[in-house]
Amino acid sequence: MQGELVILGGGESGVGAALLAQNKGFKVFVSDRGTIQEKRQKVLLQAGIEFEQGQHDEARILNANEVIKSPGIPDKAPLIVALREKGISIIDELEFAARYTQGKLIGITGTNGKTTTTSLIYHVLSKAGLKVGLGGNIGKSMAAQLVDGDFDYWVLEVSSFQLDGMHETRFNIAILLNITEDHLDRYNYEFQNYIDSKFRIIQNQTADDHFIFWADDPIIQREMEKRNIPAQKHGFSLESPQPEGAYLKEDQIRFKIKEEELFMSVHELAIQGRHNANNTMASGITARVLDIRKEIIRDSLSDFQNVEHRLEYVTKISGVEYINDSKATNVNSTWYALESMTEPTIWIVGGVDKGNDYTQLYDLVKDKVKTIIALGKDNSKILNGLGVLGKEMYEATSMIEAVAIAYRIAEKGDNVLLSPACASFDLFESYEDRGNQFKDAVRSL
Ligand code: ADP
Repeated sequence: MQGELVILGGGESGVGAALLAQNKGFKVFVSDRGTIQEKRQKVLLQAGIEFEQGQHDEARILNANEVIKSPGIPDKAPLIVALREKGISIIDELEFAARYTQGKLIGITGTNGKTTTTSLIYHVLSKAGLKVGLGGNIGKSMAAQLVDGDFDYWVLEVSSFQLDGMHETRFNIAILLNITEDHLDRYNYEFQNYIDSKFRIIQNQTADDHFIFWADDPIIQREMEKRNIPAQKHGFSLESPQPEGAYLKEDQIRFKIKEEELFMSVHELAIQGRHNANNTMASGITARVLDIRKEIIRDSLSDFQNVEHRLEYVTKISGVEYINDSKATNVNSTWYALESMTEPTIWIVGGVDKGNDYTQLYDLVKDKVKTIIALGKDNSKILNGLGVLGKEMYEATSMIEAVAIAYRIAEKGDNVLLSPACASFDLFESYEDRGNQFKDAVRSL
């Protein structure tokens, strides 16, 4: 069989790509080595798309014209190695979808803050009345949405794994939030490979496009010096004035784009914390670049409802605030969570440790944390890593137990913060499951 488009992975992006490909007249075959969710199988059957699960028909796949690979499949997988050896083009669902849109593309990447910033930009653009779609590593597949029609703007959350499968896509606006070490297992344990992957966000940009970046990030600074970047540059900073971009000064965010200024107090912002000031600045710059009116920007940056599990306020019980930051799966994101705490904090931390260096948190823990509750199957790394600080410490092996301890010891005016700095797979199905269990436990106190 010649000329097939093969899709590896039958998840949200794979099934979406299959639907669009079918719609565009390709002969499509979906292959998933695991199981495909029942509801997705139904969609494929209904559309008359051939698929297999629990195996890969190698001979058939190696005969593909082009392959759309799920971002979850590592490049080291033998099938991917074999496809590359045969010189078969391997792309991401977003690369495929981007071939079929006339809309302007806004791509958001970075180690942390992608979902928050993507959701915020989508909110601002929607409020401005633009015809805007949301896609990438969030919500519904872009390809699947394109079957029903196009948007004038696409706001896309783009992970490094997705960028690895993007070659021709040109982002009209590219946003790089930050780069810290993560996912190194997928990058041969070379940080530079991961950095290069993130910088693919600007790979096809021209002088008509815009590159929005965190000017305080030493890695981004260094890499920008090494590269020739034709796009119009807009930095955002917590530390220093930016000639064309945004910066924080004395509790005020100052945007300056195309000679126009907009000032906003950080107290007006819907999402709090220094990391969220960055996400807000990146979003506000995007809006100004698109000539969205200042009142709309101001309103939408102040009335945005933050996405679940990211410094999400749960409730207040007996004067104690409970905050769910289950999405903090690495030390860097927990750093920002602790940094944003303004009350004595009872901190629930732990899970599957990805080689964490807790010393990075020492200063903040000393300053902000009152009590540490280690929550995980194996708490030894937390106990050893943070024990030297001499804080009161407890151990828990279930969320109910952790929340019960927090409730017992909390005093009026304290915060209870779940910000684990670790993955969730020891005790939970996912970070969402962990966050939901936290909220359930808190609400049934
Ligand atoms: P991502 O989609 O990149 O994983 P999220 O928006 O889901 O990012 O946020 C993940 C975690 O990272 C949150 O718990 C939050 O506390 C933290 N975070 C959010 N934005 C930033 C940022 N700009 N810099 C550092 N940490 C951040």
